[in-house]
Amino acid sequence: MNFILIVDDSKTITTSLKVLINEELGYHGVVANTKQECADALLKYRGKFAAALLDLHLPDAPNGEVVDFVTKFDIPTIVLTGSEIQDDESFYRNKSIVDYVIKDGGFAIGYVLEVLKRLVRNKEMKVLVVDDSKVFVSQMQDLLQRYQLNCLVAYNGQEAMKVLKENPDIRIVFTDYNMPIMDGLELTRNIRKQYKKDRVSIIVTSGSDNKKIPSKFLKYGANDFLYKGFTNEEFYARLNNTLEVLELFEATQEKANKDFLTGMYNRRYLFDVVQELYARAKAKDTPLCTAIIDIDKFKNINDRYGHDIGDIAIKEVVKILRLNINEGSLIARLGGEEFCVVLNGYTLEEVNSKLEMIRKAFEENIIEITQRLSLKYTVSIGATMQLVGSFDEMMKKADENLYEAKNSGRNKVVLI
Ligand code: GH3
Ligand code: MG
Ligand code: MG
Repeated sequence: MNFILIVDDSKTITTSLKVLINEELGYHGVVANTKQECADALLKYRGKFAAALLDLHLPDAPNGEVVDFVTKFDIPTIVLTGSEIQDDESFYRNKSIVDYVIKDGGFAIGYVLEVLKRLVRNKEMKVLVVDDSKVFVSQMQDLLQRYQLNCLVAYNGQEAMKVLKENPDIRIVFTDYNMPIMDGLELTRNIRKQYKKDRVSIIVTSGSDNKKIPSKFLKYGANDFLYKGFTNEEFYARLNNTLEVLELFEATQEKANKDFLTGMYNRRYLFDVVQELYARAKAKDTPLCTAIIDIDKFKNINDRYGHDIGDIAIKEVVKILRLNINEGSLIARLGGEEFCVVLNGYTLEEVNSKLEMIRKAFEENIIEITQRLSLKYTVSIGATMQLVGSFDEMMKKADENLYEAKNSGRNKVVLI
């Protein structure tokens, strides 16, 4: 499915699109310069195109004939045109067209790429349409599915709450105002009690002509409001805004939770997510191990080789930990050259041999910095499996054990 059809008679355009599609999306662009070549490509790559970019004016199809031709195959299509499309609603009625781009002097190649990236990302995104009108729901489904979004449906607010609960990965809810059982306003209020704006966006689609309604919805926590009868172009533009905001939230969270140097979780995030793990282990009496791993005499590395080489040594910790620790466990950088590993579900013997294996892996590891310079260091590990009062206390215990490991000669595991 990782192919994109590029139909344009300008070789400059097709060449640069093909290169960028490959570089920025990792997709393979299939170029056609005429309608005939386009027909050949459709035959050859049948069912494999994730999207199509179509020029309205081709030598053998001067009046946009290629659009109807390609969209018969249900491929999400972006139209490339020389001028503003006048009759844009009948244009969007073609069920495959998601956008059009005007090829003026500075051909908006960046915009085309953004739309393509959006289509690719949307495949991972789940949305919910809530409306008691089956006709409207089906129109919305059509608009959302051609935009590659996964679309779920509910016919009143109560049903919507149930679908949301069953599908925690729904990120946008489109809701009507007037509905039986639970209307859109109450639904908005209920959603906001449970999900903040970084988790779920709400877009209201209402036929009501009461001018007070939009502000009411926005105050209750909706993100946007569309009067029914909206144009498809407006719909996609607003949807894009909402998707961008959700992505910004995600990017910000990622930055806040991860350590810049190593890409590992930071101390704050570790303490956030570990609480649930800790509570579960304690309630079910299953084993949990907290270990602190600290480079021995790290200051010497910095002093001798400089801070940059010190950074390389810190990044090496992650490599070794990743090689020795399975996905179900947590790794975080506590600060400096100190890391924390939380191992879930291993017995004392298993933990012991795992930590010993990690210690040994560092002892045996040689970091080749340049041809002439290589680096070696050991680590000390303080660990505990005692589910004392809280995770904080568990950390304290692990830290005491680390201190013990350092004081009794370093390059050691102390686990009690
Ligand atoms: P010990 O064996 O007792 O652990 O001694 P140590 O030298 O490893 O530990 P100490 O805590 O005395 O020194 C840690 C040093 O790590 C001090 C600090 O300047 C350096 N450091 C902290 N963060 C970073 C970083 O991000 N990059 C580099 N290169 N150094 C860092
Ligand atoms: Mg140290
Ligand atoms: Mg230290």
